[in-house]
Amino acid sequence: MNWLTKFIKASEKIKTAIRKRASKSEIAASKYISCHGVPVEKKIIEQNNFVCPECNWHHFLSPSQRFNMMFGDNNWKEIKGAMVRDIDPYKWEDTKKYTDRLADAKKKTGQDCAILSCEAKINDIDIVVSAVNFSWIGGSISMNEGENVLKSVQTAIDKKCPYIFFSGSGGMRMMTNMLSLMQMARMTVAINELKKNNLPYVVVVASPSTGGLQASICSTGDIIIGETGATMAFAGKRIVQNTEKTDLESDFQTVEWQMKHGQVDLVLDRKDIMPTIGTLLSILLKKHPAQDQTSEEDDDSNESLTVKTKEAS
Ligand SMILES: [Zn+2]
Repeated sequence: MNWLTKFIKASEKIKTAIRKRASKSEIAASKYISCHGVPVEKKIIEQNNFVCPECNWHHFLSPSQRFNMMFGDNNWKEIKGAMVRDIDPYKWEDTKKYTDRLADAKKKTGQDCAILSCEAKINDIDIVVSAVNFSWIGGSISMNEGENVLKSVQTAIDKKCPYIFFSGSGGMRMMTNMLSLMQMARMTVAINELKKNNLPYVVVVASPSTGGLQASICSTGDIIIGETGATMAFAGKRIVQNTEKTDLESDFQTVEWQMKHGQVDLVLDRKDIMPTIGTLLSILLKKHPAQDQTSEEDDDSNESLTVKTKEAS
């Protein structure tokens, strides 16, 4: 076989692969999903909290699906942040107008911005929770998302309760440039205020967690929990590989790898995350059933906190 025959055969293979690949709309319309090389009914995965029962792959979960799973359907109260009036100050347009992208994201997700926040209860403890929706322009962070975090943290401070943050973001939103980057500092200052009030801050790293959000408030949790298999990084694996010119481990930038290197405290399956957070908060807030009797006397809510918080840098 000469080089020309090899080349023709290779190009035929590529053409076949491209032809056979299903489109995004075909994948969305299909009743099946393939995460371990064998089709699995989407219904079966949905019934299992969007986790494949065969290979344990944790599929995407929107914030409202996550809140319903954790607290029961509609058993949570949404927190809305202030909405910025001029959302497109740079009049951004690439292959599409930014304002059109915003309208599409709102229609697709039913959310006003990429972050959905709520008040809820776990183990009878009041909590404030925020979660990022990756379907909202890649879970990117801009002014409205910053406002949502600020409002949520303020709510937690007012209620003297812990704040839980579920990440899942590509980073800061390029369409709003410096105004997006500023949110890293604003949100970090808000988290510092939470810590000054001795209120626990728990981060759950869901996939993918990259860029500016990971480089700001997702790295400053008192406890950082990784959801099984999630990607946690600043720059992507390929960029690091090209810069370092070295082979990287196969699990590089997974939460399991980050735990081995001290960036994550725990890696948990989705079903175990809320029970574990409940237990941790019960201990931190001295609300553990075994400690209830002894802590009742001095249980003046916030004053009983003994959690030692780290100052965010
Ligand atoms: Zn699977």
